[in-house]
Amino acid sequence: MSSEPAKEAAETPDVLIVGAGFAGLGMAMKLLDAGHSDFVLLEKADGVGGTWRENTYPGCACDVASVMYSYSFARNPGWSRMYATQPEILDYVKRVVKDRGIESYIRFDTEVTGYEFDEDGNRWSVRTRAGQEFRPRIVVLAHGALHRPNIPDLPGMGRFKRTVFHSAQWDHSVDLKGKRVAVIGTGSSAAQFIPEIAGVAAHVDVFQRNAHWVLPKADRPLKDFERKLFKALPAVQQLYRLAAYWTHELPVLAFLHPKLLKVLELASLRMLAKQVPDPELRAKLTPDYKIGCKRILLTNDYYPALGRPDVDLVTSAIEEFTPTGVRTVDGQVHEADVVILGTGFSTDNRCATEHIVGRDGITIQEAWQDGPTAHLGTTVSGFPNMFMLMGPNSGGGAQSILFVIEAQLHYVVECLRMMRKRRADRLEVREDVERAFNARLHAKLAGSVWNSGGCHSWFLDHTGQNRQSWPGTGTSYWRATRRPNPNAFLLTRRGADRRLRVVPGSSQPR
Ligand code: NAP
Repeated sequence: MSSEPAKEAAETPDVLIVGAGFAGLGMAMKLLDAGHSDFVLLEKADGVGGTWRENTYPGCACDVASVMYSYSFARNPGWSRMYATQPEILDYVKRVVKDRGIESYIRFDTEVTGYEFDEDGNRWSVRTRAGQEFRPRIVVLAHGALHRPNIPDLPGMGRFKRTVFHSAQWDHSVDLKGKRVAVIGTGSSAAQFIPEIAGVAAHVDVFQRNAHWVLPKADRPLKDFERKLFKALPAVQQLYRLAAYWTHELPVLAFLHPKLLKVLELASLRMLAKQVPDPELRAKLTPDYKIGCKRILLTNDYYPALGRPDVDLVTSAIEEFTPTGVRTVDGQVHEADVVILGTGFSTDNRCATEHIVGRDGITIQEAWQDGPTAHLGTTVSGFPNMFMLMGPNSGGGAQSILFVIEAQLHYVVECLRMMRKRRADRLEVREDVERAFNARLHAKLAGSVWNSGGCHSWFLDHTGQNRQSWPGTGTSYWRATRRPNPNAFLLTRRGADRRLRVVPGSSQPR
């Protein structure tokens, strides 16, 4: 991207949101609620829904109860189950977009290729793949943390002559009926699609590197009378929501104080003993790290699927691909017509490939050379008037990410209000505040099960630093984001003489 002056064609919305998933769409709705309609939402795909548009694998569903995995301000009394499936969640998102009149603000098929902060103009210059330029005052990055499929670099993969695809790029044109299928990975996605393809495929080999802890999913269809009750008496659905909220909140206390995890481990081992009678298979499925270290799988049909005679759990490490299958280090070749990668997403540096240039020409890669950090997961020093949703260390606990997103939407709206009230045209989190915040955050995380539970998960980067988890309950995050502290920011205004002045009430950097 060049720093040439803005072309006349550049659009100048006050706010530019990037990403039409739950976060970006929620931002649009909250801006409208706050009386702010001068915004545009850019989406690289041709539809809304983000992760729920992209992930269409069989069995794709949410492991958070629907009453908690929906906007608190757009209730859905019509959920068909306690835990909704992907098509139902996508329908919900589309319906809310329509009901709230958001569609006209969205530019589909518009991929952003770079962001540069123009210091003099006090605006961002945002370019798209089609060569368009937008010059908003504020940018909100809402492109999520789990959208770059992790394609492992396994030896000989290029030699494999048959079909390979990732779970987030499911190839629905491939009929698995009667095929030999190899599944690599046993995380949340694989645990959902393995029970669906077992019995359809002639044979499924599941390649497990580490066993995951599993707990039962309290899923069931919602009864007609419950739906009628939710519609007639929203307070009843609110009670369900409250119950789901605390079901997700309480385990976090154990994740932060791992001594309390024994109860969850016993419940999981009991389920394993009940669902897997074969002692050899049970031994393979018994994790050797603390529960909660990796995200717990909530599923009732994963273990039974692995126990089927036409499914094998392979725990020998993969040595290489052959032209027709996968060879493990014990020398066995597992023939496969189709290989499905349930290998998760790249999360190590969420903006690794983004072209984001902030104040004084600093790139996001330079700012994050020691790993992604932010203040409250939303603002990064050096990047004025830029907000992130689901940024570093704002999720990854057990609470619904929708709850976290809503806290952030509120926080962004409050920050904009604070700027307006103080007549600031630039907001930037102070570098010392961000540094001190992260020192406290990482000190708290050190004792958590995510950091010290004896596993490596996608919460950790390659250096072992936790870049995902908020070190507390959802409630504590909600409290921290209620009201932005003006002293955390450098709030400035450019005077008639073009010089930047700190607005009264916000603090000077130390
Ligand atoms: P994941 O939890 O990161 O699991 C990836 C799996 O692939 C793990 O079993 C991992 O093994 C394995 N793997 C990765 N690289 C490998 C390699 N080179 N060789 C062999 N195995 C390899 O990914 P995911 O299942 O897609 O889920 C990611 C996250 O998405 C979840 O934690 C969750 O937050 C979200 N998700 C949510 C839902 C939902 O219901 N809300 C559903 C799906 C996903 P190791 O364990 O040994 O590393």
